[in-house]
Amino acid sequence: MKGQVLRLTVPRRYAPFLTRTVRAVVRGSHVYLVPRENGELVVGATSEELGWDTTVTAGGVYELLRDAHELVPGITELPLTETRAGLRPGSPDNAPLLGPTATDGLLLATGHYRNGVLLTPVTGDAMAHALATGELPDEARPFTPRRFHAAALSEQPA
Ligand SMILES: Cc1cc2nc3c(=O)[nH]c(=O)nc-3n(C[C@H](O)[C@H](O)[C@H](O)COP(=O)(O)OP(=O)(O)OC[C@H]3O[C@@H](n4cnc5c(N)ncnc54)[C@H](O)[C@@H]3O)c2cc1C
Repeated sequence: MKGQVLRLTVPRRYAPFLTRTVRAVVRGSHVYLVPRENGELVVGATSEELGWDTTVTAGGVYELLRDAHELVPGITELPLTETRAGLRPGSPDNAPLLGPTATDGLLLATGHYRNGVLLTPVTGDAMAHALATGELPDEARPFTPRRFHAAALSEQPA
């Protein structure tokens, strides 16, 4: 799931511009503005299902600025210092793939979709357990990559 994100810079003369994160839904789209201590203001993020496309588009930048402007009109005064697009790696059921696979010695920790940063500590713990014991801890078992293999087998005609 592609996501475009912008960075604006708050000049000193405008500081403090925003002192907390603002999140909202504008015309059905989620938008957030995150002030950073270094004076950046992050505006995100689009959600576009376009495969391996990491192009920053005029439409993506326009929509983010339009929606953010609706929440905080003063942003149009700020320098736009970065535009970028990243990918949120999903899986067929949009849950992560964690732990051993059908290939000996190959473990996965991916498919975190929208929450890979948030889930880093718990993923690290689950993977440490899997590497040390060969098995996922109980709470991470639903995320085994083998679930897709098992589902495919159960769908085969008897
Ligand atoms: C705009 C945006 C905002 C986000 N905001 C948040 C947020 O606020 N909080 C949060 O928790 N998460 C957020 N995320 C999601 C988070 O970034 C992802 O969930 C996280 O990066 C997933 O980590 P990962 O290691 O699974 O995959 P990635 O970080 O995508 O890493 C996968 C790596 O594998 C490489 N790769 C892929 N295929 C191959 C291949 N065939 N061979 C070799 N290498 C390959 C890729 O190049 C990449 O380096 C956001 C994502 C985007 C795009």
